[in-house]
Amino acid sequence: MASWEDNIRKVVPYVPGEQPKEKNIIKLNTNENPYGPSKRVLEKAVELENLKLYPDPAATELVDTIAAYHGLNSNQVFVGVGSDDVLAMAFLTFFNSGKKILFPDITYSFYDVWAELFNIPYETVAVDDNFRIKASDYYGENGGIIFPNPNAPTSIGESLSFVEDIVKNNKDVIVIVDEAYVDFGGETALPLIDKYDNLLVVRTYSKSRSMAGLRIGYAMGNDKLIKYLNDVKYSYNSYTMNLPSIILGKESMLDDEYFKETVRKVIDTREWFKAEIEKLGFSCPPSKANFLFITHNTLTAKEIFEKAKANKIYVRYFNKPRIDNYLRVTIGTREEMETFLSFLKTLV
Ligand code: PMP
Repeated sequence: MASWEDNIRKVVPYVPGEQPKEKNIIKLNTNENPYGPSKRVLEKAVELENLKLYPDPAATELVDTIAAYHGLNSNQVFVGVGSDDVLAMAFLTFFNSGKKILFPDITYSFYDVWAELFNIPYETVAVDDNFRIKASDYYGENGGIIFPNPNAPTSIGESLSFVEDIVKNNKDVIVIVDEAYVDFGGETALPLIDKYDNLLVVRTYSKSRSMAGLRIGYAMGNDKLIKYLNDVKYSYNSYTMNLPSIILGKESMLDDEYFKETVRKVIDTREWFKAEIEKLGFSCPPSKANFLFITHNTLTAKEIFEKAKANKIYVRYFNKPRIDNYLRVTIGTREEMETFLSFLKTLV
């Protein structure tokens, strides 16, 4: 190895779910929403002429619209390139004490990657045998806390009082609640941001708003937290939000009826599909997300994953301790789920 390699920052990167090149597949592996964004988004023209200019570095129109939607002031909202960008900025901004940050052992697999990347010490806290997070495990001294609610890949949602319990027992550090999936039946911690200045709530357009391709995420918290986030962002890249994302992200927020309708369809399909697969010997925790975390009483997850893939149906398999006999199945359209169900029936 050449000596310059000693000084390289070496990281083991996060592995995103596969984005297959082959056509005519059923794609239930990366928690996208099958319905696509509102017509208002699709019909909104982005003036190509404007692309010669830098976008508004503050993404004001988008921030204002998101703030109004949630009944907040604009200085309580921070936007980024998907919630991955928002979360990475938040790690860099808030987890600086040198003490260990805490997150569940079974959770979004990007958290440990950011911690490693930014040299943030961390400790994972085991969820129980039913994959539940225990609030009291998070009471001790730490450098900050992050967890998704609903959690991924388990799909389990915890109550507002559960989140408050963690936040109020950690007033000297920042608690980040990653609400990527909250719109599919979870309980949001948003009402707590006025009460607790140490709480940051993070959301994404990639799931419930069906706009993963545009890359928009946002954080909500008190104005001081948002200012600190912006200071870090402007020290790194002033123009994270491109012009189409600002314009189309705003448009999506303005069509609440469509948003609620597609979320409802995903939830209905999820509950129908869950009941159907339970008849086939599958089980899964109750889901508050747009996916199910399923296991079968005889067939192994790996075997189902491989056979499904050979049949052009992609689901997510994690070859990791504790969860290597589970599959994370994104809820697609009713038609897609009927096809997947027929496939599962042939297997069992
Ligand atoms: N948080 C969780 C829990 C997720 O599952 C995902 C999706 N990979 C994200 C955040 C990031 O989503 P995005 O960057 O598309 O907003």
